[in-house]
Amino acid sequence: MSYTGPDLEPPRPRRSPLRRPLTVAVAALVPGALLGWGVYAAVGGSDDGGDAAGARTSSAAPSEGAASASDDAKKPADSSPSATGKPTASSSKSAPAGAAGPLKGKVVVIDPGHNPGNFQHTSEINRKVNVGTHWKECDTTGTATNAGYPEAKFTLDVAHRLRTLLEEQGATVKLTQDGDRSYGPCVDERARIGNEAHADAAISIHADGSGAGNRGFHVILPGAVHDGDADTRAIVAPSAELGERVAGNFVRATGGAPSNYVGDGTGLVTRTDLGGLNLSTVPKVFIECGNMRDDKDVAQLTSGTWRQKAAQGMSEGIVSFLRG
Ligand code: ZN
Repeated sequence: MSYTGPDLEPPRPRRSPLRRPLTVAVAALVPGALLGWGVYAAVGGSDDGGDAAGARTSSAAPSEGAASASDDAKKPADSSPSATGKPTASSSKSAPAGAAGPLKGKVVVIDPGHNPGNFQHTSEINRKVNVGTHWKECDTTGTATNAGYPEAKFTLDVAHRLRTLLEEQGATVKLTQDGDRSYGPCVDERARIGNEAHADAAISIHADGSGAGNRGFHVILPGAVHDGDADTRAIVAPSAELGERVAGNFVRATGGAPSNYVGDGTGLVTRTDLGGLNLSTVPKVFIECGNMRDDKDVAQLTSGTWRQKAAQGMSEGIVSFLRG
């Protein structure tokens, strides 16, 4: 099936004034990863790409079936047992009540990007919602590997792993969706769930759908927006801090390099066009864990072992942020 989504993004902001300082700051967190990172950073790349809302820059129709078997060989391991922790009701605060740990009393909202059911609900998810700066589709289908492993399955699997890790630290964790609704939620609702939970930190999990050869993760930070219902001014700084810590720990936990196609090697990109960030009133970042259209990245994204490392990196970044 085609995964070409109706979700093309407007051009992203190109340059963040934060980039340089963050390069240094993030690098300082992960000295051991600098070598590999430097190599990747040197490759550079165009500033196209990104998805963040599942937006596909790729016009290439997913050549399903053309995919190499190797890419997704281990794919449907995603809901496999290993460290996944069985999903519970989505909106339940599933933390063991009264769990001890350094994050006791802290609330983290995890937003698994997209929804596996979005493909069956195109009219609903194409409905426009106001994201402050403009009107935008309620939600998007997300991307997929060429072999058909959907981003929405990936995001949910990583979200479950992350939830388990954060709960072990004593946090109260809430998911914006847990595969228990037929589509969505819309991006404005995804933000609202974090706001109403008074989350101390929120993270939206994605994988990108850029061109082959574009590799690596990036963390998306909210830019300053004050327009309509959107006012991110109070969360820009804490979100940057959160994103910086997540990026640094993600490098360390996965051993992978930041994006070679956006972010100038920092793994950090600032955007003002994403409703999930624009409408947030709590510190929030997106993470694009890798590129689902690059074979090497796909080998990682489809590996349960790698996804566990990815979740570990996110968890350690969030723990570090919340402990200050
Ligand atoms: Zn996405």
